Amino acid sequence: MKFSTRAIHAGQQADSQTGATIIPLHLSSTFTQDEIGVHKGYDYSRSGNPTRSALELCLASLEEGAHGLAFASGLAAVMAVFSLLKPGDHVVAGEDIYGGTYRLLEKVLGPQGIFATYADAREVWAIEKAMRKETRIVWIETPTNPLLHLADIAAIAATCLARGVLLAVDNTFATPYAQQPLKLGADIVVHSTTKYINGHSDVVGGAVVINDDYLSKTMRFYQNAAGAVPSPFDCWLTLRGVKTLAARMIQHQGNALAIAEILQQHPLVESVSYPGLKDHPQHELALRQMDSFGGMVSFRLRGGREEANRFFKALQVFSFAESLGGVESLACYPAAMTHGSMPRGERERRGITDSTVRLSVGIEDKEDLINDLSQALATAATTRRVQRKG
Ligand SMILES: *Cc1c(COP(=O)(O)O)cnc(C)c1O
Repeated sequence: MKFSTRAIHAGQQADSQTGATIIPLHLSSTFTQDEIGVHKGYDYSRSGNPTRSALELCLASLEEGAHGLAFASGLAAVMAVFSLLKPGDHVVAGEDIYGGTYRLLEKVLGPQGIFATYADAREVWAIEKAMRKETRIVWIETPTNPLLHLADIAAIAATCLARGVLLAVDNTFATPYAQQPLKLGADIVVHSTTKYINGHSDVVGGAVVINDDYLSKTMRFYQNAAGAVPSPFDCWLTLRGVKTLAARMIQHQGNALAIAEILQQHPLVESVSYPGLKDHPQHELALRQMDSFGGMVSFRLRGGREEANRFFKALQVFSFAESLGGVESLACYPAAMTHGSMPRGERERRGITDSTVRLSVGIEDKEDLINDLSQALATAATTRRVQRKG
């Protein structure tokens, strides 16, 4: 079956007892057993829950993987992957990774003797160069946050395979609608389901999808042993959200492309980054490995923090907020928000300046979004002229 059908039906047959068409919300923490050692597949909801199983089957199907595991947050899912490591093991991670993943590597895993080196994942040779004999996992995101740089998943997967290193791809920005890393050779896919997969900004959750049975067993053991599982209600909401993922992504991408093209023409905009733009430096790679370019756009304003602040304050449809992937449009200021904890020099070296703005383009009416951005840019620009005269 095709993606949009699987998003609605995978793992979600009608309930065998009642015929309920929608997966029931099983809040029960425990399950009555038939006799010693005999039950219907569930005994305790940390170890397994029918609503969670439905979500796990659905996500595995969307990523075209054999096994799905749901977690209480995206970072709990990231941690489940790193739980495969022992002290002395080494990770090569993309330079532009989610700040929370960086923090987990540096502040939690580092002190436990698991070390990471960061490399520019746009270049396969840079990843290769960072590898050591202790390297066990290569960790990448593509597109990255907030600059929307891409990494060549198939090429990096080939390098990892040759060295017996696992490749994990955080597919949160792209979603399985736009990109299926397992098909390109990755071993592990990770999601913050908080973002596009749930899509309605009302659940924090995460997931891991894998093909390998041994890895799946190991991580399933960890999921139960460490216990960072999502609540049945969060699973239920996420299942409801993911049903419309394909429909939402079509609208996200249509709006994002239109906005990226209009921003490119705007006198107050210095540059725009969106993988769907012909002049994105890796547009050719985007065409090769992505089926859609997603809903994230970043751009650089002419001006700095002041202009950016006036722009954010003038927005009326876009909310000035962190996070992404919901139906509503959000604008964020990476220098003070997502990357606020990164030292200025380090941040600017990566290209995240005081004029960088990130948009999570929602699925509202395209014209309303364009008008909102235009009036906010005009306000930022006019105020600047007025102030200069004064
Ligand atoms: C948000 C995010 C995470 C962390 O997910 P949480 O659900 O907030 O724990 C990880 N990776 C990426 C790319 C994200 O955007």
